[in-house]
Amino acid sequence: MHADLIIVGAGMVGSALALALQDQGVEVLLVDGGSLSVEPFDHAAPFEARVSALSMASQRILERLGVWQGIVTRRSSPYGDMQVWDGSGTGQIHFSAASVHADTLGHIVENRVVQDALLERLHDSSVGLLANARLEQLRRSGDDWLLTLTDGRQLRAPLLIAADGANSAVRRLAGCATREWDYLHHAIVTSVRCAQPHQAMAWQRFTDQGPLAFLPLADAREGGVDEQRWCSIVWSTTPAEAERLMTLADADFCRELGKAFEWRLGEVLQADARLCIPLRQRHAKRYVEEGLALIGDAAHSIHPLAGQGVNLGFLDAAVLAEVLLHALARGERLADERVLSRYERRRMPHNLAMMAAMEGFERLFQADPMPLRWLRNAGLNWVDDLPEAKALFVRQALGLSGDLPELARR
Ligand SMILES: Cc1cc2nc3c(=O)[nH]c(=O)nc-3n(C[C@H](O)[C@H](O)[C@H](O)COP(=O)(O)OP(=O)(O)OC[C@H]3O[C@@H](n4cnc5c(N)ncnc54)[C@H](O)[C@@H]3O)c2cc1C
Repeated sequence: MHADLIIVGAGMVGSALALALQDQGVEVLLVDGGSLSVEPFDHAAPFEARVSALSMASQRILERLGVWQGIVTRRSSPYGDMQVWDGSGTGQIHFSAASVHADTLGHIVENRVVQDALLERLHDSSVGLLANARLEQLRRSGDDWLLTLTDGRQLRAPLLIAADGANSAVRRLAGCATREWDYLHHAIVTSVRCAQPHQAMAWQRFTDQGPLAFLPLADAREGGVDEQRWCSIVWSTTPAEAERLMTLADADFCRELGKAFEWRLGEVLQADARLCIPLRQRHAKRYVEEGLALIGDAAHSIHPLAGQGVNLGFLDAAVLAEVLLHALARGERLADERVLSRYERRRMPHNLAMMAAMEGFERLFQADPMPLRWLRNAGLNWVDDLPEAKALFVRQALGLSGDLPELARR
């Protein structure tokens, strides 16, 4: 099989790129090791443990790709406020969408919902889809890449896009150098029911062992009325502590979770099945070479404490699509490293800045010495009193600052 461009990985980011390139005169083939089937959505089903806090920029991209409606009709939870505080001090800060005259700070959406809404559009598009197609080997063959799948099938294209996630096979097989290190954190994720309503607020407590987030979920499962009691939690902690928490009975887990969260939403009454995910930071030293570009988690994966991973990935996809379509209009060769470098120049500084900020936050809140504790608590309270400074943070979280691709503009 031959195409102008092969995207390996039909996760959220690879699927978004494929949709952005449809009907533009480029033959796109999207391949994935999974089934690529879309299940009918069951509104009574439990929440999926893995969710994403989608920024305004991501919402705009998904709207322009015709995907947002499919998300909203399934299940999504807008939130307008965010409360962050230091578990071992007095510092706290409150952000609100109203401070920048926005309706929401973002939406909490189950990953499966985003994925299905994207796939639904893809099945109706001109993009070639190849399901159950796991990449095993990769080599250059003339001007093309030659991909061999685990079942022996072979694919060929002059331009290859790696969108195959944090453990990218493309990145490894193409020999792309990557910096990576362990955060020495595992994240426990699940959905929990609390005694008090979450008030459409995202909550984050920095504990000595790592950040603990309660993300509000809109629940219409119980009689159609949303009591605002369900939250998705991301509890980052040391691997040993995560292992211990994973073995607890549900009632004991709920008790420890409530305590770690200072019972801000009362008792934790119920918890769904837990997932434990080791957290690693990875960053490819280059995002492009002749005939190859890395996007999404294949290029960078960061700590989930600010919920930015897939938001950065959607911006990668939108910028790369824009760069390729401009090159196409100018009659340039898409696989040319000089063309692909335009994508790298626009995205790498932004992604690196976000990763550095996450790293800084993570270290500051883990720091034990008294002066640093004092500094961060005083700093949080100080910034909380500065509306202008807070508005800057909020615009950053909305994803609307910096060099925005056309798809993310209003
Ligand atoms: C605990 C946690 C919480 C998070 N919360 C947030 C959040 O609130 N907001 C946010 O923006 N981000 C969040 N993230 C990050 C976000 O989940 C990732 O950035 C996002 O899933 C990356 O999407 P992707 O499409 O790049 O990769 P993936 O979702 O990993 O998709 C990769 C695709 O490639 C396919 N694939 C893999 N290998 C092969 C192969 N060899 N051959 C063929 N196909 C292959 C897979 O089947 C998959 O479909 C969180 C991450 C974690 C761990």
